[in-house]
This record gives sequence, C-alpha cells and structure tokens, in this order.
Amino acid sequence: MKLVIDQNRCKGCNLCTMVCPYRIFTSGKKANWRGVLVPDLDRPERCTNCRLQKMYGRTLCGMCQMTCPDQAISWVDEKPSEPHKVEVEF
Ligand code: SF4
Ligand code: SF4
Repeated sequence: MKLVIDQNRCKGCNLCTMVCPYRIFTSGKKANWRGVLVPDLDRPERCTNCRLQKMYGRTLCGMCQMTCPDQAISWVDEKPSEPHKVEVEF
C-alpha cells in the first residue's frame, strides 16, 4: 500500500500536516495546475498504516484520512516490483 493525495480534490488546507504523528505531510511549495499547494509527502513509507495494514489487517492510525475535509487522501496498491527506499529509524 502507498499513501497518495488526490491532486484533483486537495484544496491545500494543510490540516493533514497538523495531525500526522510522523509529520509525513509537509506544506506544499509548488502550486499544481489548479493553483493549489498540495502538501508534499516526506518518506511516506514511515506511515505504519500504509506498511502494516495488509500484513496485520488493521488500521493503526488513519488520522490524516479522517481529518481531510475533501476525502483527498487514500492508499493504493503498489505493483509487486515497485522499488522502495528502505530507511531504518531507531
Ligand atoms: S495514517 Fe497516520 S501516520 Fe499515516 S500518514 Fe496518516 S496521519 Fe500519518
Ligand atoms: S487535509 Fe486534505 S485537502 Fe487539506 S491539504 Fe491535506 S490532503 Fe489537501
């Protein structure tokens, strides 16, 4: 699973940047074609919801999705061969 923001729905309110305990969302710096500063994702693979949801069949957080007023946040399946950056945090 991977976290995505729907560019067509997001209005750049930045609520998601305030609620994520891992600070995965950061304020967008470049306006998209709608003139909206869609938040950037900082190493979204750190989101336990994305990585463990399938393995354990449960949702661990989901705060961003519950908070987004425009239902712009979702998780999509990845291709089996999609490359990942592996980062270990202590
Ligand atoms: S599910 Fe939780 S940890 Fe994951 S991106 Fe959303 S708010 Fe952050
Ligand atoms: S909460 Fe939703 S609409 Fe607001 S910036 Fe985040 S993704 Fe966009």
